[in-house]
Amino acid sequence: MSGHLLEVNDLKKHFPVRGGMVGGKGGAIRAVDGVSFSVDRGETLSIVGESGCGKSTVGRAILRLMDVTSGQVVLDGTRIDDMSAGSMRPWRRRIQVVFQDPFSSLNPRMKVRDILAEPLRNFGLARGSKATEVRVGELLDTVRLPRDAASRFPHEFSGGQRQRIGIARALAPEPDLIICDEAVSALDVSVKAQVVNLLQDLQRDLGLALLFISHDLAIVEHMTHRVAVMYLGQIVEIATRTKIFGQPKHPYTFALLSAVPVPQPGASRTRVVLSGDVPSPINPPSGCRFHTRCPFVFDRCKVEEPHLRAISPGQEAACHLHDLPAEQNPLA
Ligand code: SF4
Repeated sequence: MSGHLLEVNDLKKHFPVRGGMVGGKGGAIRAVDGVSFSVDRGETLSIVGESGCGKSTVGRAILRLMDVTSGQVVLDGTRIDDMSAGSMRPWRRRIQVVFQDPFSSLNPRMKVRDILAEPLRNFGLARGSKATEVRVGELLDTVRLPRDAASRFPHEFSGGQRQRIGIARALAPEPDLIICDEAVSALDVSVKAQVVNLLQDLQRDLGLALLFISHDLAIVEHMTHRVAVMYLGQIVEIATRTKIFGQPKHPYTFALLSAVPVPQPGASRTRVVLSGDVPSPINPPSGCRFHTRCPFVFDRCKVEEPHLRAISPGQEAACHLHDLPAEQNPLA
């Protein structure tokens, strides 16, 4: 047993397209195409990448909101991707989610008290109305909402407050891992920072693991321990926050970072502008999937697929540049 809280091994999720077969060449959207990573207790791993890179599909597959095509999802040493709904029930409690749009994920006809009581009842975590009321109050305290919020409806709150209700609902089943799927993307900048600070405090106080799925690298830099960068259904680089933001070793990471504003006055980042559109995940490019947009492409990239491998301690990247002599490698 590895000791990781969550392990994802060679996960694939292909969606059949009309007239095609899953797994058949050209016959499926390869939304996730061989993704592996782990998350430890108390750790934040962020998955970043452009829209459509497959990062949200990874989250939904872990949550069992969809069946996977192949691969494994292992929680605390037990494989959960192939469990029946009945066997999955106690494991479902341990992974919760906060979605981007708290308004559409909260039932508008339920008061906050009932929204928070529902998971407590479902998982048998509070017996009787008195115990439920006490626990609802504690959850509101935890996300820094007033106790009288319990008797109000979701539409009576601001976007940031609704997201706090969503976080309280995710905390109710006492999970080990929370998947935050673009959880702060729709919020104003100042509110975004407050919600991120709240998530960090909860992680520290409760020992939660967070899988933070986001396209917003400025927020990710502020709050993550490690980062996995996805492109066209695959992880192209995975490393500690310091290494990703300080010494990226994949040209795609480099390009994503070059578009992020630098917070320190006077500091600058070399700018790399990506050319061309993201290719179709139905028929991804041969060799390196990024070769049609990579500013450093060379012949080998078009025919041979690079695989993730250690570049330095705590840093893996999938790029042929690292086989070149250092003086020929622009990312050395
Ligand atoms: Fe660019 Fe080649 Fe590296 Fe792919 S393998 S990222 S095309 S240099």
